[in-house]
Amino acid sequence: MPPFLLLVHNYNMQNYENYIGIIGAGISGLALGCILKKADIPVVIFEKSTNISEYGAGISISPNGAKILKYLNLYDEIISISSNPKQADFFSNNKKINSFDVDVITTSRQVLYKYLYEKYISLDGQILFDHQLYDVDFDKSELKFTGDKTYQVRHIVACDGIKSICRKKLDFQKEPTYSGYSVWRAIVEKKQKNTQTFLGPNHHIVTYPISNSKISFVAAIKTPKKYKESWKSSGTFEELKNDLVFSNKDLYSFINKETSLFKWGVYIRPLIKNIKYKNLTLLGDAAHPIVPFIGQGGCLALEDAYIFGHFLIKYNSDINKAQNAYEALRIKRIKTITKMSLRQGHLNHISNPVIVFLRNFVMKHLPSLAIRSIRKKIWNYDPEEEVRNFK
Ligand SMILES: Cc1cc2nc3c(=O)[nH]c(=O)nc-3n(C[C@H](O)[C@H](O)[C@H](O)COP(=O)(O)OP(=O)(O)OC[C@H]3O[C@@H](n4cnc5c(N)ncnc54)[C@H](O)[C@@H]3O)c2cc1C
Repeated sequence: MPPFLLLVHNYNMQNYENYIGIIGAGISGLALGCILKKADIPVVIFEKSTNISEYGAGISISPNGAKILKYLNLYDEIISISSNPKQADFFSNNKKINSFDVDVITTSRQVLYKYLYEKYISLDGQILFDHQLYDVDFDKSELKFTGDKTYQVRHIVACDGIKSICRKKLDFQKEPTYSGYSVWRAIVEKKQKNTQTFLGPNHHIVTYPISNSKISFVAAIKTPKKYKESWKSSGTFEELKNDLVFSNKDLYSFINKETSLFKWGVYIRPLIKNIKYKNLTLLGDAAHPIVPFIGQGGCLALEDAYIFGHFLIKYNSDINKAQNAYEALRIKRIKTITKMSLRQGHLNHISNPVIVFLRNFVMKHLPSLAIRSIRKKIWNYDPEEEVRNFK
């Protein structure tokens, strides 16, 4: 029997008053769990599903996220069964604009989640599947799960993703608004070396290898259609073709009626001022849901876990101090990357030919300008230095 099935039942009545209680076994929750277990800090993860996520989708981890995977000793293992493109090719209206040097891990979500999960279990981490949080008492640090399960923990860490119950409960957020963009995704059998981005009027297509034989296909479109915000919404090839009516069909000739296609509406949630409240700290998408146009949501989730984990280690006897330090460091970075991501969404979907010309001109003739801020502000970030130098 897989270990998690035993755990679901065994810990039902356990006392977790001295434990950091993490809600959600996603990227931030599992990474934080590993970091705390490495430092022997008692931690337990509560996950609503009965298993780790299985959504068939790709994910690209840039050097800032890869640093955390290296710290967890997962980098080499993940890269050995994933891909590591060194070049990103950009095209506009099917003509190549330029190629940029990159160093990203491109993999499937299953691989990333599986390795984080296995690392956590190998560190003797406790995880309670089938625990869906529905209410929180921030004063008592009490967590209520469906099925009448209630636990008290030392500190609550919300890693419960884009539709976070904790964030909602705090009323931090208004209802999300549709961004104007929806995204199609698929995993298909195909060999490819580089990441490729095809920019066109009101849409763009990104493909990258996730292994020796498979690629991730993502097509973002500017549309009033408001697709549902869901990993599970499937769509048909006909619908995809209609959405990509202005695109060259050769760009997705590897997709057909048999391909499993999923669609996702991109919604915007306003940034929150505080990512901590009483005995609660928010990480990952729960703290800062961002649009996916520079592929940073997962990387930020890894950075959050590293930084909050290390402040908890540094100030273990004083959680409040750890929360304050974490918030002080993260808010500025979150704001910067959220803005860059929204701006990239606009740049990727330009239809005005004059502005398209200007965008392409910069990418072709001033490549260092085009990529400088991404490299400097995002990829070169060093969380270890941040924590070390924090006063
Ligand atoms: C189309 C698309 C493409 C993307 N591409 C990239 C990319 O290339 N690179 C990148 O870095 N990021 C990318 N992202 C963003 C990235 O997927 C997220 O930012 C990242 O998964 C957030 O991690 P997390 O830990 O906050 O949440 P998640 O990884 O979503 O984990 C949340 C966990 O909480 C659990 N949970 C939720 N509610 C409850 C509850 N009530 N009780 C208990 N458990 C609960 C969920 O089951 C899940 O396991 C993309 C996003 C989209 C939509």
